[in-house]
Amino acid sequence: MGFETFIGNPEAVAAVRGMLASSRLPGALLFTGPDGVGKKTLALMLAKALNCERGPDDFCGVCVRCRKAEEMLAATREDLARRGESKDAAKRVEGLVYFDLQLIEPITRYILIEQIRQVRSVAYTHPFEFPRRVFVIDEAQAIHWQASDLLLKVLEEPPETTTLILVCPNAYELRPTIRSRCRRVAFQPVDESTLSALLAEEGRVPKAQRALAARVAAGSIVKAKSFDLAEFERRRRPWFDFLTALSARAPEPTAAPDWKALFDSTKALTENRDDFEETLKTGYTLLRDLVQIALAGPQAEVVNVDALPRLRTWAAELGLESIERLKEGLDEAYRLQVRNVNQQLGLEAVALDVLENPASSAAPAT
Ligand SMILES: [Zn+2]
Repeated sequence: MGFETFIGNPEAVAAVRGMLASSRLPGALLFTGPDGVGKKTLALMLAKALNCERGPDDFCGVCVRCRKAEEMLAATREDLARRGESKDAAKRVEGLVYFDLQLIEPITRYILIEQIRQVRSVAYTHPFEFPRRVFVIDEAQAIHWQASDLLLKVLEEPPETTTLILVCPNAYELRPTIRSRCRRVAFQPVDESTLSALLAEEGRVPKAQRALAARVAAGSIVKAKSFDLAEFERRRRPWFDFLTALSARAPEPTAAPDWKALFDSTKALTENRDDFEETLKTGYTLLRDLVQIALAGPQAEVVNVDALPRLRTWAAELGLESIERLKEGLDEAYRLQVRNVNQQLGLEAVALDVLENPASSAAPAT
């Protein structure tokens, strides 16, 4: 228990603990940084530490107040989910009751004016059960513009017994007047070795694929924890077939391409329309890897680390020009995705384009 269980971002943890230890916690804090690195988690840990019976710069997770904090959070999450499902706009914000530890999140696309009005109406009163009231406003960038003025008023006259923690990916999505009244704690993407250690501890991803999972997670603990190897490979396989079919002819440029393999792969890639955006993302990652290899050679930092030999072969056989053309084809597919256009024909068109114009820059495999 306690802050030692927090993964990554040691500077942010140290900053928070330092404020706790000096008992000079500002009235309003702003946690910023990429998604999935634990901003909200650390905000809630801080809320517990402010109230834990064992304090002053940590929380135990077992005292009455720590357990009470968990209960409050569970009740809040349930309440938010119920309100989010309501079709009735008035019912969504009816009878808001805020606990001493309160998580505030968007109920619709926005954090609504009533939610912030409730912050203001209780922020200046004594907490009910805890020494200190803490409001954690997650996705603060989603605060409705009509509610920003109300929040600003609270920030201008910081309440004595309430701490506000705003959480949002990018501070510049908030109004400067709000931003400037909060002490900022910046979070960074979590480094790969930390993510690999986390994956090893969880034991869900086989050792050989951990480097891949850590790369795909791109600094996000949430992504690392939810990495699904089978799903990832299922999505990637038709791209492998596509690239194989496209580059197979390279040693002998006049040979006919394996049309069947090519069309089978484009069919597999476009089979599931609802899934096509994710499929495209996987394709982009592979093409980015190929560009990296074509430009940086052995120094290339690729995401698909487990497929490096194959990537090298494709990069050499296709050449930078063709890879760029494929990327443009994907850009076009991405644009057309919103319209009701046949994606398979689109991918086939770009494949034909690459096949008909063998890249002059294609280099022999190294
Ligand atoms: Zn405690």
